Amino acid sequence: MDGTIGNFQLNINHIFNRMETYFGKSVVYYRENSEIKKITFRELSERIRKTANYLIKTGIGPDDTVATLSWNTIRHLELYFAVPLIGAVLNTINIKYHRDVIKNMIRENNAKLIFYEGIPEDILEGINIRSVKMDQAFDDNIYSSEIEKNFPDNNEKNAAIICYTSGTTGNPKGVVYTHRSIFIHSLSLLGHDSIALSRQDTSLVMVPMYHISGWDIPFAAALTGSNLALPGVHPDPPDIVNMISSCRVNKAFAAPAVWTSIIEYSISNETGLEPLKYAGIGGAEPSDYIIKTLMESGIETWHLWGMTETEAIATISKPETGNVHNQGIPMPAFEINAVDEKNNKLPWDGKSTGELLVRGAYATSGYFHTDSTDKIVYMDGKTWIRTGDIVKINPDGSIKIVDRDKDLIKSGGEWISSIDLENTIMEHPGVLEAAVIAKKDDRWGERPLALVVKKASYRKKLDKNSLREYLISLDRFPKWWIPDDFYFVDEIPKTGTGKFDKKLLRSKYSK
Ligand code: ADP
Repeated sequence: MDGTIGNFQLNINHIFNRMETYFGKSVVYYRENSEIKKITFRELSERIRKTANYLIKTGIGPDDTVATLSWNTIRHLELYFAVPLIGAVLNTINIKYHRDVIKNMIRENNAKLIFYEGIPEDILEGINIRSVKMDQAFDDNIYSSEIEKNFPDNNEKNAAIICYTSGTTGNPKGVVYTHRSIFIHSLSLLGHDSIALSRQDTSLVMVPMYHISGWDIPFAAALTGSNLALPGVHPDPPDIVNMISSCRVNKAFAAPAVWTSIIEYSISNETGLEPLKYAGIGGAEPSDYIIKTLMESGIETWHLWGMTETEAIATISKPETGNVHNQGIPMPAFEINAVDEKNNKLPWDGKSTGELLVRGAYATSGYFHTDSTDKIVYMDGKTWIRTGDIVKINPDGSIKIVDRDKDLIKSGGEWISSIDLENTIMEHPGVLEAAVIAKKDDRWGERPLALVVKKASYRKKLDKNSLREYLISLDRFPKWWIPDDFYFVDEIPKTGTGKFDKKLLRSKYSK
């Protein structure tokens, strides 16, 4: 029997309409040329309509792709809405990609126009499409455009944003988010047990808008009238700390490496992080040091897991509902399971480890321009996608990531979790960051190697032996898990999304 409810498109138009109609007084704070500026949602909506008009006049139409190379800026935010509103598709390109990767991407998705700001212009060399620098002249151009009055009522199944995987474990692959997937995911961010965005909040989006649509936080904020804070081009810890206090930020979202640098800065400069109340952390597992330090300063930490293939935040763990060292339970409209190497479903017993499979209203079922089905698994009559993450699922349904399959270390035929080792080494009071990778070994195949960044106060005190002794004294792992060597480094290279760049580390240190 068919229902009687009408056919209402879950699209970005509806999100935009709410922002414009009901939340005109909400604001976006944004950092530009070292200043913090402010724009209301009403002014933003007008600029979005003008940007849309500019795009149409430039010849962009439905289904055309428009690319961006930009940071968390007001102009990027305008394009987040203007491009999908006119039925076109926004490809947010990770600014840390190599020029050749960008070239291939644009060839693949046939982008007609690329907007850029805050990047070295040589990235654009050899890119043979029209590029538009977003600067004062661009603003003047937009301001003089007309207000676009009508947008097509975009079909919810249409593409809105293309995002490529960050290529941590291989070549970037395109995932295409639809109006509907963005709508449903944004709606799920408003739930009380989710990140609960509301009109009372000011959310600082540090997760890059060039990757996985800034976790959809900009869209969720527009849907509900939550204030936003955008840290702009190349923000450093002092800029972030300043934004938190001067914009009265109460929720902030970033990868662990970003949190580590903010915490270190605020401790060494005794700035505090007031009035921050909630810290959303995802993209990699937060160390115990991050969780403890934030919690002890009265900031509740929320642990979030997601990947390009799941659009943004797909599982969540909060202190009131679970153990924040776990990645937590799925958000609404999202399902998980784990399988062994032969694709047999594993029990949710908190012990069995296998690959995490996911499906849901914002999980992809393939990649842009490929027919490859090697990531697809059919189970219980449903289609699931492989994540490459190795997990345990607890009896309460929460997941604990053990490692990524490519980062696991196989020593003497047995697996060692690089994440477990990293987190434990980072518990040492003298360690700021630690990354563990596999090093080739004639006898065992692979052995763990730890790269360690010392805290400034421990620069002279910490050595290899004391770290080894520390790990042995904790008695948490078998002895053969303990790294054979520790290299002390000044910093650990990060990917554009703030994860340890293990591909680079392996190419440098694993032979
Ligand atoms: P890439 O896959 O190229 O690194 P993504 O940004 O899509 O780019 O990364 C998703 C991956 O990041 C996940 O598969 C997982 O391995 C890791 N990840 C994300 N959030 C967490 C988390 N909270 N804990 C542990 N790992 C995480």
